[in-house]
Amino acid sequence: MKLEFLVLGGGREVGRAAIAIKRNGDDRYTLFDYGISFDIDDKPILPLSIAPNKLKAIFITHSHLDHVGAAPLFYISSNPPIYMSKFTAITSRIMIEDFLRISGYYLPFEFLELDSMMKSVTTFNIGDRIELDGMIVDTINAGHIPGSTMFRVEFREGVSVLYTGDINTIDTRIVRGACNQKLDAGILVMESTYGMYDHPSRERVEQIFIDAVKSVVEDGGTVLIPAFSMGRSQEILALLAEKMPQANVYYDGMARDILELMLLYREHVNRYDLLEKASKVFTQVKDSGMRKSICKEGGSIIVTPAGMLKGGPALYYVKRIYDNPRNAIMLVSYQAASSPGRKLLTEGVLEDGGTRVKAKVFWFDFSSHAGASDLLNFVKQVKNLQRVVLMHGNEDSIYSLGYRIKEEIGVDFVSPQVGETINVEL
Ligand SMILES: [Zn+2]
Ligand SMILES: [Zn+2]
Repeated sequence: MKLEFLVLGGGREVGRAAIAIKRNGDDRYTLFDYGISFDIDDKPILPLSIAPNKLKAIFITHSHLDHVGAAPLFYISSNPPIYMSKFTAITSRIMIEDFLRISGYYLPFEFLELDSMMKSVTTFNIGDRIELDGMIVDTINAGHIPGSTMFRVEFREGVSVLYTGDINTIDTRIVRGACNQKLDAGILVMESTYGMYDHPSRERVEQIFIDAVKSVVEDGGTVLIPAFSMGRSQEILALLAEKMPQANVYYDGMARDILELMLLYREHVNRYDLLEKASKVFTQVKDSGMRKSICKEGGSIIVTPAGMLKGGPALYYVKRIYDNPRNAIMLVSYQAASSPGRKLLTEGVLEDGGTRVKAKVFWFDFSSHAGASDLLNFVKQVKNLQRVVLMHGNEDSIYSLGYRIKEEIGVDFVSPQVGETINVEL
């Protein structure tokens, strides 16, 4: 049997994940993810287009914009069925609404299309099996953020494909590591963001982070922790609730809304007890008056988006605390090359020609993606594997990981570019 893979995005790049798959002879594709990415000026880049009438169904792995951000495009003139886990559906709406609100660029869809997309969503519980027109789709925990799902598709002929989306294999306080059951597939389509890099142990990162926070607070300084609103902020809050429950911790912006949602959908959260504790012992920032007084307080800890300091309340706080060397800015998220967060880390300023930041600046590796050795171990666990398709990574990461897979496991890999069609015969 022959399968055709149409790479619409995420080929040798991190972002705009989108791949359409069909059996040779079928007239329609099944699409996995349809995300966006951003260029250096923050302008959205869409995946390549495909006519909605060529789609049998769409499966979305998780609610990050690089996996779901462009999906409303299909609902301008059509209504293809779309599948997401319950938590992915709820948070996708919030993430795309926020994106529509703050994007300064023209987008080819609006709230109306987002609404029609949400009406076409069929939700599932992770672990459910979906039967669809000659295919069986198993939904498996991907361990990346709450609600994140891998899809294992089995065609009538018995051939199967496992699409990972973004995965993490370790347990964090927010989400349990990717499930290693039912991993049986002839073809594995896998992310490779950290294909040439191993993360330090999470325990060690946490210890250094907590020590650093304590030392700034004990010195009377303010700690600002800019963090992604979906997942990272809540992980930091849960960690602080466990290790520093007496501290003066505030959380702001979308981190607040997503925390409340996670409390409502407790089955998606690994350490629900810690998140609940965080919501009880820490304080939500409700208005701008409160923001102002926190900055004057000293000794407090603020957790808020945006994680790369591109906007959100984090930017407000930075402007008020950057001038005092007792304060600290602790970055805990990935910092894209063109982001103000990266500039701060490498040059000590937020923008070209900007004032030098006197506050201490730290970066901690709390990644929600598996590192290279974890990805390799994951591949080892897939039974009956014949081919790996590496996506969602830059060229260096893909080749470094691909050659290790070939050498250590003896399975061939392909690394398609955007716009490429690959055919695999099994
Ligand atoms: Zn993601
Ligand atoms: Zn991603």
